[in-house]
Order: sequence, then structure tokens, then C-alpha cells
Amino acid sequence: MQKTMLIDTSRCIGCRACQAACKQWNQLPAEKTEFRGSYENPARFSSITWTKIVFREHEENGKVRWLFAKQGCMHCTEAACIKVCPANAIYRTEFGTVKIDPQRCIGCNYCAANCTYQVIGFDQAANVARKCTFCHDRIANGKEPACAKTCPTGAITYGERADLTALAQQRAAELQKAGYSEANVYGIEELNGLGMIYVLQERPAAYGLLENPRIRLSTVVWDYIFKPVRILVVIAAFFALWVNRGESKKESA
Ligand code: SF4
Ligand code: SF4
Ligand code: SF4
Repeated sequence: MQKTMLIDTSRCIGCRACQAACKQWNQLPAEKTEFRGSYENPARFSSITWTKIVFREHEENGKVRWLFAKQGCMHCTEAACIKVCPANAIYRTEFGTVKIDPQRCIGCNYCAANCTYQVIGFDQAANVARKCTFCHDRIANGKEPACAKTCPTGAITYGERADLTALAQQRAAELQKAGYSEANVYGIEELNGLGMIYVLQERPAAYGLLENPRIRLSTVVWDYIFKPVRILVVIAAFFALWVNRGESKKESA
């Protein structure tokens, strides 16, 4: 089973209801933000902002128009975060999505440094990495993700990958006929398939999306060469922590 979301940017009005719904459902607090000359806010993903609307001004033939795209974890098939995590704290769920287990996360932040789309935030208070869960708690109970449920224009559709792939291609063809010559689908081929499929009116770069996402060579090297011994690294780290705590107790006694 491969659950997917189709983000049809041609239907997005930039209202950010999805952004607010994500915060509400996941009980994520607001961030202190500042005006930077754009409605896009906050500037970056964080441990308390798992999705946001990217706002881009697009100029063509002397006319400027807004492009909007909901972005966050792409739930990549080739997921760099899963490959690098030394504690096996990031895994693929029964729905084909990518999830962090906070109980197993050791707070090394290596996933955030290697994420292809830079969407992982670090919760310093809890010492764990956090990101979009694809609303695992909702979909496991037969509900659609909170962001998809909330979108007032139907720009976010939740469903099976095969169905949404066909729908995306059909919608891109409609847009091309309507005069959007660059209309395309993003997320079918990229990283062997993303859990978020986009219908775009313009090239991916116009929305701040990577045109040709690739996993870094260092990630591949880590996965194939160091992964087999990573559990030893984790055990060594915990042993060092345990010894340090013992020493601290002796000193304070
Ligand atoms: S977008 Fe980043 S966090 Fe999400 S699955 Fe891909 S590599 Fe992992
Ligand atoms: S799927 Fe859930 S966690 Fe992910 S962006 Fe949507 S509301 Fe937030
Ligand atoms: S709720 Fe829908 S229309 Fe509003 S910003 Fe999100 S994707 Fe766009």
C-alpha cells in the first residue's frame, strides 16, 4: 500500500489553512516570525513547523503572478534520512511513508544535515529530530491527513499512488491545453518516487523545488560502508553516556 498526497498548485490560493491545520492537529506551537518582504512565513522548517506554503513571484511577459506550493517532507522512496540514521529511528511505515520514532532518536541530527529537501527540524528540549508524520495517527484510523482534510480548494488530495499519478498527469495535460505550456508533474520519477506528487504550472525551480534531486555521495558511502557498524557506534555512545553519568554521580556524592 503506497499512500500519497497530490498537491495541485494550480488550485492553491495560498491561504495557509493546511499550515495551520498541521499545527493544530499535531499540537505544534506558533513561531515568532518577522516580516521579510514576503507572505511566506516562517522562513524555514523547524521542529514546530512541518509544512508551509512557499510563495514565489513569477514574472512572464512583463506580468507578475504568485506561485504557491505546500512543501514539507516528501516521504521519498530513496530517503536519505533513513539511510543515514545510525539508530534506525527513521523507518518506512506500512503506508509507504517515512516516520521518525522519537523513542529511538538519539538526537545526532545527522538526518537533518542529509535530508534532500532540508525539512527536518531539531527539538533541542527533547533532543529529537521532528518532521511531518504524514499524519500517521490519522491515516492508521482511516482518516485523511489534517492538511488534506482542511484545504478549502481541493488543492490537496489524499489517496493511493497509482490513482493520484493518473490524476496528476491528466491535470497537467489540462493545464497545458489551457495555455500553461510548462505544466508538469513532479514526484513520480524524483528519488524513485515521492510521497507527495505535484502538479506544477511552471518548472519545479520556480517553486523552489529541486529540478533533479539526488542523494549525496557521502550519504551513499555512509549507508554502504559505515552502516554495518553503526550499531556499535550507538552502543559506544550510550556506554560513554552511562560512564559519564556514573562519574558525575560520584563527584556530586
Ligand atoms: S524529504 Fe527529507 S525527511 Fe522526508 S523522506 Fe525525504 S530525506 Fe527523509
Ligand atoms: S500530513 Fe499531517 S503532519 Fe504532514 S503536513 Fe499534513 S497535517 Fe502536517
Ligand atoms: S489549504 Fe489548500 S489552498 Fe490553502 S494554502 Fe494550503 S494547499 Fe493552498
